[in-house]
Amino acid sequence: MIHRSIRDDHICVLTFDRPGSSANLLDRSTLEELREHLDSIAQEPQIRGVVLTSAKRSIFIAGADLKMLTGDAPPEAVREVVELGQEVMNRLAALPVPTVAAIHGAALGGGYELCLACDYRLASPDRATKIGLPETLLGLLPAWGGSTRLPRLIGLPKALEVILGGKTLAPKPALKRGMVDELVPAEYLVAAAARKIGQGKRRLPGRGWFNNRLVAAIIASRLRHQLFKKTRGHYPAVLKALEVVTRGISRSVSESLALECAAILELVQTEACRNLVQVFFLQERAKKLTLPGAAPLAAHARTAAVIGAGVMGAGIAQWLSARQLRVILRDVNADQVAKGMACIAAIYQEGCKRHVFTPREARDGLDHIYPAANDVPLRQVDIVIEAAVEDLELKKKIFQRLDELAGDETILATNTSALPISELAAQTRRPERVVGLHFFNPVHRMQLVEIVAARQTAPEVLHRALRFVQQIGKLPVVVKDSPGFLVNRILMPYLVEAGNLFRAGAGIRDLDEAMLDFGMPMGPMRLLDEVGIDVALHVVRTLAAVFQERLEVPDILANMAQSGLLGRKSGRGFYLYPKGKDPQPNPAISLAASPRKLDASRQELQQRMVLLMVNEAIRCLAEQVVTDPADIDFAMIMGTGFAPFRGGPLRYADTLGAAKLVGAMDHLAENGAAYFRPCARLRSMAATGARFYGGAERHVAAVA
Ligand code: NAD
Repeated sequence: MIHRSIRDDHICVLTFDRPGSSANLLDRSTLEELREHLDSIAQEPQIRGVVLTSAKRSIFIAGADLKMLTGDAPPEAVREVVELGQEVMNRLAALPVPTVAAIHGAALGGGYELCLACDYRLASPDRATKIGLPETLLGLLPAWGGSTRLPRLIGLPKALEVILGGKTLAPKPALKRGMVDELVPAEYLVAAAARKIGQGKRRLPGRGWFNNRLVAAIIASRLRHQLFKKTRGHYPAVLKALEVVTRGISRSVSESLALECAAILELVQTEACRNLVQVFFLQERAKKLTLPGAAPLAAHARTAAVIGAGVMGAGIAQWLSARQLRVILRDVNADQVAKGMACIAAIYQEGCKRHVFTPREARDGLDHIYPAANDVPLRQVDIVIEAAVEDLELKKKIFQRLDELAGDETILATNTSALPISELAAQTRRPERVVGLHFFNPVHRMQLVEIVAARQTAPEVLHRALRFVQQIGKLPVVVKDSPGFLVNRILMPYLVEAGNLFRAGAGIRDLDEAMLDFGMPMGPMRLLDEVGIDVALHVVRTLAAVFQERLEVPDILANMAQSGLLGRKSGRGFYLYPKGKDPQPNPAISLAASPRKLDASRQELQQRMVLLMVNEAIRCLAEQVVTDPADIDFAMIMGTGFAPFRGGPLRYADTLGAAKLVGAMDHLAENGAAYFRPCARLRSMAATGARFYGGAERHVAAVA
């Protein structure tokens, strides 16, 4: 809904306010309503100018309603909605009076394209204000004029950086790039916008130097090559956007808009776009997830204690403090606590550099942390998160102590990677308040948190844990307490197989390149180094003890851990990490491999590693670690970066088909690798032709 008011100074203010929602979106009816307003404004000669604003607390316009463009929408319907959006933006741009977007909150995708159709853009400097065109991250491109108007506003090179990178910017960097004209405090935005009208209609600078056919062609040919190398051909939207922007710049606006329209119609048909949009919907679903039968919870956590100030404890404490929780950070002695505090200060410092925090916010965040080298009372604390070293006996003792120190209502959570939560709960007098909260490393980058329900965890505690994860802006997946939970359980067979292949003579780089080709953000050998060989070894040992028939601890990992080759943190692992240089395969490690090079193509390497992940994912579903295939796909994409354009391991399994998977796994199992044997669920799916996702699921998730 759009409220229209005319001020005494004859300036028309259009306020976007979608009923029953905290966000504004551009859907068909909003666009039609806007068109009507613009038509009537055009017929009222007394109106001197138009200001667009939003009634929402932290959103200007979050973007186009993606349901119109994707899922089961037929191509004709997509064309209609793209043309409708372009027509409305054109009408706005063509109004004879000046127009100003007064942006407070997110102005993204279609929301920012609307701003681009205005003469001026003023934005509030608040953290909530985010400006950008993230379409290419969803396998799309800006097609309501964004690919046409942004390069005309800020010049081709800067516009390409934003559009091809799918960038979302904080107000200051957006101002620096010229994407907004001024920053004005939220409470004065509309008044400042009204004043801006006095400057009259705006004429865009020519920018002939960059914005001409020859320069565009040179930039296009240089970038095409780079982008293809970077995306390995998996993300067609980026290349398409490059083509549209560089061809459109030397044509008329209407010709360029026609290029946008044709391109998006092609892109919405791609599997990559469907999968990427699905991942977006799953993220939205996680933000709103509730447990069946749970009553709404008003109380938010205000205080927390983190036990262990190592890599994870420091990361978690920093994240919580940045969200205004008061955090006690406890470790065994002052030195360890000081190390943790230094690590937190470094994360804040990096955040300041990237404009995530102002220096004041960083100081304020640090002030929220209370370092403790001794036991302190935890009676008033809402939640304790234990992140001490991965040792069951040690953790048991910690939980006994926490049970004494914490208040009755305090949730006791553990960040263990794979140890049984139920055993930790059993150490306490009130096991029903114990839960797993498995954060991923690095905490400030990884959005996923596995919420692990122990046998004893009370539904109310699980519900509070879920609300806590949502409160701190992480994305939850609720899983059963079983070895390795969900993500590590599926990831480890893949990493172990990489170790096996390495021992059998596959090169470190070949293994990594094979998986980069598949679409992983990082190859398995680099990932092992990043996780830490000791940490990975610990998780593998825990899993191997349970799944003996199919998982063995690779001796290479044990040997490396023993020799202090712990990966990136020790400067040496599968790679060497010389300061200021790119990592190089570690020649000393290569001596541990077979002297004969393994005769396997990249596709074969890929297949072996991926099949194990798929098989384990299906076992997790069969054992009800989670019950929805989408939870597995979502968790693997968010927790490990599993090639998002493939939609996750189960979506990938559907793409190949169960019969083909069974054939490939049986073949490997019969040729000396029995651990490839397909699980029972996969075999029965192959026999019946069943799939994880029917045609309807995308739609179901889309409306969730
Ligand atoms: P770390 O070795 O970096 O830190 C552990 C910290 O715990 C150390 O500072 C140590 O002094 C402290 N500690 C030991 N005993 C303690 C006690 N009794 N009381 C308070 N502090 C104590 O380990 P990490 O990598 O941060 O891992 C911590 C936990 O998080 C482990 O359970 C691990 O499995 C889990 N985890 C790790 C990762 C990862 O990638 N590192 C990811 C997810 C989960």
